[in-house]
Amino acid sequence: MSYVDRVIAETEAKNPDQPEFLQTVREVLNSLRLIVDEDDRYEKAGILERIVEPEKSVIFRVPWVDDQGRVQVNRGFRVQFSSSIGPYKGGLRFQPSVNMSVIKFLGFEQIFKNSLTGLPIGGGKGGSDFDPKGKSDGEVMRFCQSFMTELYRYIGPDTDCPAGDIGVGAREIGYLYGQYKRLCGSYKAGALSGKGLSYGGSLGRTEATGYGAVYFTEEYFKSIGKKIEGTTFAISGFGNVSWGVCKKINELGGKVVTVSGPDGYVYDKDGVAGEKVDYLVEMRASCRDLVKDYADKFHVEYHAGEKPWGRVNADIYMPCATQNEIHGEDARRILEEGASRILIEVSNMPTTQEGVDLLMKNGVTVLPSKAVNAGGVAVSSLEMSQNAEHLSWTAEEVDEHLRGIMKNIFQSIHNAAESYGCFGNYVVGANLAGFRKVAEAMLAQGVC
Ligand code: GLU
Repeated sequence: MSYVDRVIAETEAKNPDQPEFLQTVREVLNSLRLIVDEDDRYEKAGILERIVEPEKSVIFRVPWVDDQGRVQVNRGFRVQFSSSIGPYKGGLRFQPSVNMSVIKFLGFEQIFKNSLTGLPIGGGKGGSDFDPKGKSDGEVMRFCQSFMTELYRYIGPDTDCPAGDIGVGAREIGYLYGQYKRLCGSYKAGALSGKGLSYGGSLGRTEATGYGAVYFTEEYFKSIGKKIEGTTFAISGFGNVSWGVCKKINELGGKVVTVSGPDGYVYDKDGVAGEKVDYLVEMRASCRDLVKDYADKFHVEYHAGEKPWGRVNADIYMPCATQNEIHGEDARRILEEGASRILIEVSNMPTTQEGVDLLMKNGVTVLPSKAVNAGGVAVSSLEMSQNAEHLSWTAEEVDEHLRGIMKNIFQSIHNAAESYGCFGNYVVGANLAGFRKVAEAMLAQGVC
């Protein structure tokens, strides 16, 4: 049995109840064969066995009192996956679907994503099964304070720096940071990123994931002689990431024709632009989680219970919502529809393995999320740098760094794919490029 097959089998045996985590482990490890099969240093040093096992995982009780005075209990998680190249870094997700499998999948992806940014950040992730939907401000604050009352022991500017993710935005980060500061008794701004501008946040962080994804797309387009201008995009979601993507695509002369929610998708042939982009922010703030509100307000087509994949004619499909939103049947529909030959993944692991395999076998280029969406965490790392030097950079400075980082990420995954003889396979290229740096650091640091 090969080294990769053995580690996959052992990981499956140890974590039988963690499907999302196993999905990403299989995907990443299978593409590392090209490196680990030809160099036995990795097997000798147990690099793969170590990389699939988090350095530390904590699960904790989060008790809080709701507006009716009743005690509610949620479960909190933080997985500190890898500190080989820097302090753990990764967001917090508050969503009912959160469990250990989801947090480990996100944390594992984060190791390679953070490595691709070229910045000194390790991989981590956390969150809770708390549902912010329908909760009052007071309830969200009490929940965040309780969550931080346990989490604070594990984080810090040089240890672990959490940030936002689904369900955790500016409001939640504010409450989390306020409680962290009280518990620490000192102002350690670099212990959380995504902070407000008045207390240590970075300009450009809110837009970073979406803008970064579009900068990455521009780089890829340059390599195939295409331009954002005049290109039509079908995207999913209507959260922070979709909002940033829409803003930047419009700015560069492209058109976004769909957005989606858990209830369905809307098709806006005139493009999601102008006040419609601002309305996405309002829809999110309402916590209704319904994209139908967009259709009602702007009188556009609404398709209940459906996703846009293969149902609309667009040059590019760009999932921006959540994991596993493109299944085998969606991939088949994309292939039948035939207009788009490019899938740019923005949300973390939006495509099932069956979906990715089908698309790639049939000549569709897949740009993987761990490269495309790395702009968010990259600007978080720039926020940590600003906090460490007690300075704030201008919006232009941050944007320039972000552009440069996204350009480098594209170049490095392109070159990695090429140097291992799989030209144009960006999924493999991203895993190889992300892994190489982490593995070198692990080899240098001995068995730890
Ligand atoms: N949650 C985002 C991600 O998946 C951002 C993490 C961060 O800023 O640390 O990369």
